[in-house]
Amino acid sequence: MEKVNLTIDNMKVEVHKGITVLEAARASGIEIPTLCFLKDINEVSSCRICLVEIGQKLLPSCTVAVEEGMIIRTNTLKVREARKTILQLLLSNHKRECTTCLRNGKCELEKLSQDLALTDIEYEGEKNHCDMDTTGASLIRNAEKCILCERCISVCKNIQTVGAINFSGRGFTTKVAPAYDRALADTVCVNCGQCVTSCPTGALTEKENIEDIWRELDNPDKYVVVQTAPAIRVALGEEFGLSIGTRVTGKMTAALRRMGFNRVFDTDFAADLTIIEEGTELIKRLESGENLPLMTSCCPGWVKFVEHNFHDMLNNLSTCKSPHEMEGAIIKSYFAEKEGIDPSKIVVVSIMPCIAKKFEEQRDELSRNGMKDVDYVLSTRELAKMIRQSSIDFVNLKDDDFDSPIGMGSGAATIFGVTGGVTEAALRTVFETTSGEKLDNIEFKEVRGIKGIKEAKIILPNGNVIDTVIISGLGNAREVVEQVRKGEKHYDFIEVMACPGGCVTGGGQPIISSKIREEINIKEERAKAIYEEERSLIVRKSHENPYVNELYKEFLGQPNGHKAHELLHTHYVERNMF
Ligand code: SF4
Ligand code: SF4
Ligand code: SF4
Repeated sequence: MEKVNLTIDNMKVEVHKGITVLEAARASGIEIPTLCFLKDINEVSSCRICLVEIGQKLLPSCTVAVEEGMIIRTNTLKVREARKTILQLLLSNHKRECTTCLRNGKCELEKLSQDLALTDIEYEGEKNHCDMDTTGASLIRNAEKCILCERCISVCKNIQTVGAINFSGRGFTTKVAPAYDRALADTVCVNCGQCVTSCPTGALTEKENIEDIWRELDNPDKYVVVQTAPAIRVALGEEFGLSIGTRVTGKMTAALRRMGFNRVFDTDFAADLTIIEEGTELIKRLESGENLPLMTSCCPGWVKFVEHNFHDMLNNLSTCKSPHEMEGAIIKSYFAEKEGIDPSKIVVVSIMPCIAKKFEEQRDELSRNGMKDVDYVLSTRELAKMIRQSSIDFVNLKDDDFDSPIGMGSGAATIFGVTGGVTEAALRTVFETTSGEKLDNIEFKEVRGIKGIKEAKIILPNGNVIDTVIISGLGNAREVVEQVRKGEKHYDFIEVMACPGGCVTGGGQPIISSKIREEINIKEERAKAIYEEERSLIVRKSHENPYVNELYKEFLGQPNGHKAHELLHTHYVERNMF
């Protein structure tokens, strides 16, 4: 590749032609602050914090390309003054309540103020006043903390192709909002939370349920059961300073027990159950030829996306509830019966990497006899806050285990946390149950990896071929589903996770700054940890989970049978398309 020679802060450097000044500086060990910049998602140079001096001009380093002989100065008085002025102007119209802000400690605007040693705001003047939008089930919009960086708009429009929010108004009154200033709850937003994890400030946050949980835990009449999804255990540690992708399964269960939950269960149990139900559904659909391709339904962001955009494909969605909803239904039926507990006294709390599940648990379809399957959903971030509120020394906790009987999941269930995991888990079971043969190698490497669209043909021992496609990110999903609709592509099985990379980078996971996102591949690190966890387990196939088999024998009967349908399956609704 062609190279060019530059001088950055009196250092002679040689860099690849075509890269930006920001990239060249960072590659040379020189840090330049950024705010609106989010690599590969938002590269629009709207905030201008990354200004540098090139010749006599101040130019934004995130979009200016390097040129031969360029002389760049990143730290002159003029640069520092310009950055401070920009920051002061942003803060002059910002609701500054850092100590009580949900993003306190994780806000890039707050960090920049510290880094630039800002001590006062010279430009105090009129401020924009906007009401908070708290209508959504999953997220809150606080336009008074928005710096108009555009990151959320880019991720929602370009990566997810949802386009629920955009700039509205002009000049001083410009804000980010849904079209016609509608409430977020009335839009096509699918609650994926990718805008929340992209936002550098507290302008977009999840709707917290922490106080609800403390209240339930304090109520002696309630039996509070918690379940945790697989992607939590490879991300929660980051909130306590551990490196990205550290596995903290044992510490997490220990912390939950100390916080006072009556039982600590693993959603992996229900992921195994999902595989049995969905695998059976796939085999039936392949035999009948109806409603193919089968599209997975474990991601509520994706399900809502289909409900808004693809009304003609609602019957292609698997009727299986998502794993945590299945687990909730089993806790309030089988578990309650087995333990002699009145199900109306049971409170089910799901700890999820996902804020779309906050919307999902409120769906009418996911209740029975006036009782919701799941009562509350907390994100990984909320769990970390609760652990800190409890003064638990998380890093030094001794490992603990999940409770039985709903606490054991197989390796196949664990990999649900990463894109391709559901397909791999289903293939292990479908292959062995249809052929009666044991797989020599249970790792289907062809469905692994964090690529947004992966195709694979799986040949069963009887010669039948299952055409699959594994997708993460809703823009990718839209592209593939439109090809299927037009008859340009044929698949039997489509796995979709709304978040790019799958739940490991879900909208409820720890917030990682744009700088670290640039340096470390978060998806890969957390996915690696999930696969390590899976290899450490003795049972690695869903149909070999002894507790799931016992559940069918003692309580459910046949997979896809009457009782299983009543408790574990659901239906979908058409939603507005704009
Ligand atoms: S939650 Fe997802 S769909 Fe909704 S506004 Fe944010 S990015 Fe868009
Ligand atoms: S809501 Fe957040 S991400 Fe969106 S423009 Fe405002 S500050 Fe940027
Ligand atoms: S991919 Fe996972 S975290 Fe993201 S919306 Fe779907 S279920 Fe939630």
